[in-house]
Amino acid sequence: MQKAVPRQTVEKIAEEYGCTYDEALNAYLRADNTYNDSLQSTLGHRKGEGRKDPPPLLTPKQIKAHLDKYVIGQEDYKKRLAIAASYHFALVRVKQDNETFLSGFDVKRFRKKNTLISGPSGSGKTYCVEVLGDLLNVPVHIVDATDYTEAGYVGKNAEDMIRELITIAPGENKRERAEFINRNGGLIFIDEIDKKAKEGNMLGIDVSREGFQRAVLKLIERKQVSIEDPNSPASQIQDLVEQQRGGDQSKKKNMINTENILFILGGSFQRPHDTMEAIVKKRLDSKTGKVKDDGSLTISGFMMESPGSKQEKFRNYYKDTNEDDYIRFGLIPELVGRAPIRTYVNPLSKNDLVRIMTQTEDSILNQYKLEFKLFGIDLAFTQDAIEEVAEKAEKKKTGARALVSEWEGVLTDFQYELPGTNFSSVQIDGKICKKPQDAIMKLMEKSPFVDFIGRFKMDYGLTLKFTDEAIKFVEEYAVSRNIQVYEALNLLLAGASALNYMHYGGEFVITDKILDDEKYFDKLYVEWHKKQMEQNG
Ligand code: ADP
Repeated sequence: MQKAVPRQTVEKIAEEYGCTYDEALNAYLRADNTYNDSLQSTLGHRKGEGRKDPPPLLTPKQIKAHLDKYVIGQEDYKKRLAIAASYHFALVRVKQDNETFLSGFDVKRFRKKNTLISGPSGSGKTYCVEVLGDLLNVPVHIVDATDYTEAGYVGKNAEDMIRELITIAPGENKRERAEFINRNGGLIFIDEIDKKAKEGNMLGIDVSREGFQRAVLKLIERKQVSIEDPNSPASQIQDLVEQQRGGDQSKKKNMINTENILFILGGSFQRPHDTMEAIVKKRLDSKTGKVKDDGSLTISGFMMESPGSKQEKFRNYYKDTNEDDYIRFGLIPELVGRAPIRTYVNPLSKNDLVRIMTQTEDSILNQYKLEFKLFGIDLAFTQDAIEEVAEKAEKKKTGARALVSEWEGVLTDFQYELPGTNFSSVQIDGKICKKPQDAIMKLMEKSPFVDFIGRFKMDYGLTLKFTDEAIKFVEEYAVSRNIQVYEALNLLLAGASALNYMHYGGEFVITDKILDDEKYFDKLYVEWHKKQMEQNG
């Protein structure tokens, strides 16, 4: 008998039980209904269960190898993140388990490897941390700086991040969960930190942004944070009870120390009139003597790179970002100083986007394949389809995020039409990606006109009829602009919804003359409105 074996499950078993892949596979195949018991009887206890061994220390290379499976490119970031996480949690472990080891070194205060990461959006800053989170044995919390305000203002404040981190730690109750973090540490990624940078010209806002940065600074340095929201009634009652007991000890138990929490601060550092790239470029240019302090330009000898040259276009200025640039952008010097690891990501090229779709373990294409298979349809993609979508996505300048919206644009109608039909396979090629709606109509042997008329009727309760000349007009319009018939209909009849507001019922005939007049429906509406006014006196 053949049995399908999910590789990931077996790998997870091997990881959890600390055994080889083959041992895990054997155990998996023999496992019956009492799956866990069966695994245990074959392999012994899970690591850390039954025996006291802590999970193995992860080396930077192990962490990087894990990130490589999911994240394309971004070598500097992956490496620095791997080092920061590996050493941070190794140190936390030693502090917890092996005081004597530490006493052999004259280190009084550990400098955490808090990290500042900048680079274009959608290129993997957050994703890398998400993927790292799957590997670490500690809670990882990803937050958006814009969701928090300075303490004292309405809304969440910086300390709430720590309380949120507690909620995702293992434990029966808040205290146990906080204790877990006190012992094992945690990781907080604060995204969009650049949105809390001062701009130097907005007094009130700048004060509040600086307030937030100072609050984060305190958390990063070392701070005791109450595990209860100090403003919550529960916490106030507890305070009273504890005061009566006079118990300092109990109070301590309700606190969490941020010492073992690693912080990563990320952002694209771009605002309309001031980007990190421009700041770095200006600094570099002034060094090479191209731009003097007063802003004037001097050219001496050969100019290796003319402005706007190819070399310049592809240069990633984030790469050269230094401490002063972050401060110039509006982060407070103390915060920058507390994040000594600085790294960057590159913008993703078409090539990178193709690799993201074809070479990662979490490819969006696999997800679509799975979704289609749920309805018994085998989905396949040709290379030119993948390249077509990568090219379109690259133009959007939103990094890999655009891939999802591009594929949704291509596949939505396929996902709607195909389940429940006789189709058992479908191959998406470049031509389909260029004109997906027309392609699905053809596949379903439906005319785009019939489809448009059907949807119009559903939306507005009105039946459109097309004259032969009108049909020809739409088809020629689509060919001349190299767009889908479906799109041409949408464009040419964008104003037709006005009919609904003029209380038209029944049928409406679309002629080529109507289609040739961009303002036809506007004019019709104005006339109708005029008539109404006249009738109403
Ligand atoms: P940001 O840089 O703005 O934080 P994200 O990391 O959130 O962007 O990226 C958005 C999505 O794009 C991720 O969830 C991931 O699916 C995909 N992605 C971005 N960059 C990469 C990359 N380098 N490799 C693989 N997938 C990526």
